[in-house]
Amino acid sequence: ADAGKSKQDIIAYRKKHLGKTLSLSYQQPLKIVRGQGAYLYDEQGNGYLDMVNNVCHVGHCHPKVVAAGQAQMAHLNTNTRFLHDNIVNYAEKLLATMPEELSVCMLVNSGSEANELAFRLAKNYTQGSELLVVDGAYHGNTNACIEASPYKFDGPGGLGAQDYVHTVELPDPYRGKYQGNTVENAKRYADSVAETLANIAKQGKKPSAFICESLQGVAGQIIMPDGYLSQVYRHVRAAGGVCIADEVQVGFGRVGSHMWAFETQNVVPDIVTLGKPIGNGHPMAAVITTQAIADAFVNGMEYFNTFGGNPVSCAIGASVLDVIKEEDLQQHALTTGNYFIEQLRQVQNEFDLIGDVRGLGLFIGVELVEDRATKQPATEKTGQLVEFFKEQQILLSTEGRFYNILKIKPPLAFNQADADKFIQVLRQGLAALS
Ligand code: PMP
Repeated sequence: ADAGKSKQDIIAYRKKHLGKTLSLSYQQPLKIVRGQGAYLYDEQGNGYLDMVNNVCHVGHCHPKVVAAGQAQMAHLNTNTRFLHDNIVNYAEKLLATMPEELSVCMLVNSGSEANELAFRLAKNYTQGSELLVVDGAYHGNTNACIEASPYKFDGPGGLGAQDYVHTVELPDPYRGKYQGNTVENAKRYADSVAETLANIAKQGKKPSAFICESLQGVAGQIIMPDGYLSQVYRHVRAAGGVCIADEVQVGFGRVGSHMWAFETQNVVPDIVTLGKPIGNGHPMAAVITTQAIADAFVNGMEYFNTFGGNPVSCAIGASVLDVIKEEDLQQHALTTGNYFIEQLRQVQNEFDLIGDVRGLGLFIGVELVEDRATKQPATEKTGQLVEFFKEQQILLSTEGRFYNILKIKPPLAFNQADADKFIQVLRQGLAALS
């Protein structure tokens, strides 16, 4: 088969013509030409187990999703200024998975765009100006999203927090200010948000929103202590703000026990933003909210979105929801995730380098430390381990402030045999590093 352009040529072209900040994985980047299930294939036909691509949620190039897109693309694609069944059918299907209060669905094209719209909705509804964000979080690449992302504004090239943005403590039970997954710590972290809200009030200002991933992704695959979100939501609402749950990474059954990760914290957000897995790789996203918040957006200004909610995207989105149901992928995420986490804990017992294993369903983090007592991050070794995994044809990435966390969020086509394969290579890699 024709292998196409050489890797060197592609790298050179990217550097010169696609913008130097466009990021690549690995010291020697891979050229990937095909995907199927939980596997990616390079130009020479080598298969790689994809452990990190939560976008291709129901499996790379799932035939049913591909067929839905192909059929609709051959029939009609246009904007939402005409009546069409697909957008209504899709919204009905998606809203049926949400709590009853969340009954308005606005379709957009990326997670960043969903969060942008969420911020606008929140401001219109609350008339507040201040935004509360969780330390380490990432919410997207647009101006407002960068301003809402401590991972970016406090990171390299960042400008620090804008005056209207208030960063609250990351509720990290392993490495955070309060350690241990306890009810007391949930309250301590929530109380610190209440303090921030009190400071905002003291300045004579009002919050618009608190935005938080239902499980922290970029901040380090963190499962917040039980009861954190419900207490924070109460504080934020009492201060006149709304609560946004960013489910861009963690939604659509990945956590196994529930369709939406916010359900694991027993809350109903005011606004939910969805992206990545929603179209199995097709660029689409959504904002789900209440009638009251959606109504407050009606202020005379027209809202129009050229691509959002088009018939092709809606056909694809609907097929993703169908496949999740038909293949029982939520239950699969639970069973496979529980099995996998148990195996990972066994490896943790064998190697001191693993400081923490945490996860829900197929959203898992493995944190590596040089010393379990001091929790000194094993940053370099984590990077080496990821390169070792690549040599063994398994793809994953590092995460967290110290890049010492193995980020695991495979397509839900990932199965127990894949987990076993990963565990075997993990043991080899850790043995080589120890
Ligand atoms: N929110 C979260 C939690 C994300 O992880 C991302 C993407 N990494 C976004 C929002 C932005 O989504 P997109 O890249 O589709 O704009």
